[in-house]
Amino acid sequence: MLTFDQFGLADPILRAVAAEGYTTPTPIQEATIRSVLDGRDVLGCAQTGTGKTAAFALPLLHRLNEAGPPRTGKNGKRTPRCLVLSPTRELASQIMDSFKTYGRNLKLRATVVFGGVGQNPQVDALRRGVDILVATPGRLLDLCNQGHIDLSRVNSFVLDEADRMLDMGFIHDIKRVIKMLPDRKQTLLFSATIPPEIDQLAKSLLNDPVTVRLAPQKPTAEGIKQAVYFVTRAKKTELLAKLVDYHGIDRAIVFTRTRYGAEKVVRQLRKAGVQGEAIHGDKSQNARTRALNNFKSGRTPLLIATDVASRGIDVDGVSHVINYDIARDPESHVHRIGRTARAGATGVALSFCDTEEVTHLAAIQKFIRMEIPVGSDHWNLTFPTPEIKTGGGGDNGNGRGRSGGQKKQGRSAGRKPRGKSHPMASKGNAKKKDGRAKPARDGGNTGAPSKKRRRRRRRPSNS
Ligand code: AMP
Repeated sequence: MLTFDQFGLADPILRAVAAEGYTTPTPIQEATIRSVLDGRDVLGCAQTGTGKTAAFALPLLHRLNEAGPPRTGKNGKRTPRCLVLSPTRELASQIMDSFKTYGRNLKLRATVVFGGVGQNPQVDALRRGVDILVATPGRLLDLCNQGHIDLSRVNSFVLDEADRMLDMGFIHDIKRVIKMLPDRKQTLLFSATIPPEIDQLAKSLLNDPVTVRLAPQKPTAEGIKQAVYFVTRAKKTELLAKLVDYHGIDRAIVFTRTRYGAEKVVRQLRKAGVQGEAIHGDKSQNARTRALNNFKSGRTPLLIATDVASRGIDVDGVSHVINYDIARDPESHVHRIGRTARAGATGVALSFCDTEEVTHLAAIQKFIRMEIPVGSDHWNLTFPTPEIKTGGGGDNGNGRGRSGGQKKQGRSAGRKPRGKSHPMASKGNAKKKDGRAKPARDGGNTGAPSKKRRRRRRRPSNS
């Protein structure tokens, strides 16, 4: 079995990896790290949650460290040697945190720039000098145009979540950034999917790349127990509050379809004595960061999020995902429920379905090829299972009828074990271009959530 020290990573990096409790590289790490260390360009087809950040951050840190003293620009300040572009502010912050975590025993400086907040602290950090710059495209261009960033010494460039960048309309910004970079550089492009535009971009950007493809994730994450509740819109918040109480839920993400809906749920929950904070695109970046930090630290048990705002959020120990509104497309459902059961833990996903959402539920069941069992309702808030036509795509037919109720689920279901084994580490589904399949390894954790003492936390939110 491959271990991190077999890559020849510098000792301070290996110590940081060990301190994180990583024992086995994930398939994307196994397939990517050596090529990046060798200076190759990489086209990586992998989603967030697969250990992708460490796959590029660890070898890039090693290379920066080996390259010797930092380069300085005209004014004697360190200018970025590594640039990582990310579509969202949250993901950019997380990538920067990862560089800081894995590089904590090195003398390299990382900083992040993104829009939606004042630029002065970012400019100050840039003035102090930086080796690794993580950025969203818009703010990066702003700061470059104002002369605060010099990209002429970048020798490694990472384009992360490239397909999402394109979805978000960043293609022109990306092309502008690329024009400012030196021709000679190492480029790593990661994308969950490779539509024709990405393929074209990759061809123009990458030089003889190593292509790493992770087999598409199983449509529904293993280790996640799902249940659906058929409930009218008017009763959804009451059901949510009851479930939070009954299961003693203290770290859950609740998904709503709209920003307005997210705020409304927060208000209604507050009336029911349950604390939650919303995170969505109408909130200032500071409010989003505060909500996320309160959630991460356990101050606020519920984070109410829209799909877009939740992208890239990686919080350990999320025991439950609650689909207050059914996702409008099946892939979003899978993406949402993947917020729980991260890094080897188990988790629970509960979906609230009103009469108008039944067709969306049907599409999800068809996509994940399973009938989601109906959850136990101890409060008489739900209505009988409606007829669901899946169109014959699923393994088990039409999804009709109650499936015998769901067992009570413990509130500690999503806790991360110490000495993490990434769930992907057990799947062995990375293929390099040569089609070599990686060997399967043990380490998945599909055990049922433990039953812990029911307890409800009511802490003031500081929103
Ligand atoms: P990412 O795909 O980079 O968002 O990573 C998803 C999660 O996996 C993060 O919480 C990482 O800390 C964790 N992780 C990354 N690599 C490993 C590994 N080799 N073993 C265990 N956990 C890991």
